[in-house]
Amino acid sequence: MCNPNDDQSASAAPEQNDVHPDDFPWHIGVCDAHCHPTDTMSSIASIGSMRARALTIMATRSQDQDLVASSAAKNPIRDRSVLGSPAKQDTPDKIVPAFGWHPWFSHQLYDDTEASTPGPSSSPETAEQHKTEHYRAVLSPQPDDAFIASLPDPIPLSTFIADTRQRVLDAGTALVGEVGLDKAFRLPWPWGKRDAAGTAAEHTAEADADANAPPSRDETLTPGGREGRTLSPHHVKMAQQMRVLRAQLRLAGELGVAVSIHGVQAHGVLFDALAALWKGHEREVVSRKKQKMVATGAEDFSSSSEDEGEEGWGDDGGNDVPSRPKVKEKKAYKPKPFPPRVCLHSFSGSPQMMQQYLNPAIPVETFFSFSTAINLSTAGGESRFADVVRACPDDRLLVESDLHCAGQEMDRVLEDISRRVCAIKGWPLEEGLARIRRNYEEFIFG
Ligand SMILES: [Zn+2]
Repeated sequence: MCNPNDDQSASAAPEQNDVHPDDFPWHIGVCDAHCHPTDTMSSIASIGSMRARALTIMATRSQDQDLVASSAAKNPIRDRSVLGSPAKQDTPDKIVPAFGWHPWFSHQLYDDTEASTPGPSSSPETAEQHKTEHYRAVLSPQPDDAFIASLPDPIPLSTFIADTRQRVLDAGTALVGEVGLDKAFRLPWPWGKRDAAGTAAEHTAEADADANAPPSRDETLTPGGREGRTLSPHHVKMAQQMRVLRAQLRLAGELGVAVSIHGVQAHGVLFDALAALWKGHEREVVSRKKQKMVATGAEDFSSSSEDEGEEGWGDDGGNDVPSRPKVKEKKAYKPKPFPPRVCLHSFSGSPQMMQQYLNPAIPVETFFSFSTAINLSTAGGESRFADVVRACPDDRLLVESDLHCAGQEMDRVLEDISRRVCAIKGWPLEEGLARIRRNYEEFIFG
């Protein structure tokens, strides 16, 4: 359970904030590649006193886009050079925002980019009819009228994409996320419609007084999430999830920004969705033998000529990190139909699936991030964890909390996952953390 108030005393005296053992080298710069603290807005103030160097904060639905934007605007990370140095005391530069629409909410958007999908006209009856038809088309099994009435009016996909484009541009340094595909998720029942056992219950004064009353909202949490509600049988059809995902991946390709991706029980379809976008843009891969026949340093055959000297949008262009061996000449980003870099967050696929993304012909740099909250939450996940971390290339590994509340607990799980991956990789802690931080710089800035 989140209790951001735990941090109140620590924020007043940073020197006494040493809840972690002194042997953890926070000064190297620990960067959370994926988290949701705007779900608990009261915790945002504690970010300044956290030990983590950077938080990549995801937006997921209509209710959190502005919260992520405003939180980042107060504590923005403007360029890669700051990640290896301590955060400023007064205005801590700690947040990289990500703007996106999560697959759990993908039914709330309707694709107005296809001629066959008419939108609602101005009359309320037509709007109501459009809403009903839309939700019947994208949800399975088809919901009844009462369930549809509990859902918000759907938003045009083109409006969301235009808003997201503007948010990313306004933020300076930003990602697209959280986006993705999820075959396991089901929509929660509306508030007050079901009790914890999933049986029908009327939301009346008597029921509220009853111990079995339907759960009521926690007003401290940003609305729109599941918040412990039981799940209905309704899920969002994969075709609808795909439409919403594709539009966002294309936007990231247009802007040249990285994407944070959620994939649950959908690793194959997720790969296929990305592959369909980069089709025709594969890199020319030249065999090692052929490379040896060419004079050393004449050309980098691992990347296509159109990628030479590229940089992600959002890099200020003047802050190369000395430790990076390949400092390329900076050129303007050329829009493409696929993002330059993606991170598969809390990656739960197999080493074989990971390998698919590492084919050198693929023109997308894929990173894999790991969290204690997801990767180590089940016995099955824990048993696979070491093999997957070992299979992950050293320069593509990231860590994350995936928590919905900032503060000491977020630091604690970041320390935990960092220690675990360094141990599995056999990296001394300082060296490992520096490596992961450089990977984060590459993921965000390219
Ligand atoms: Zn997430």
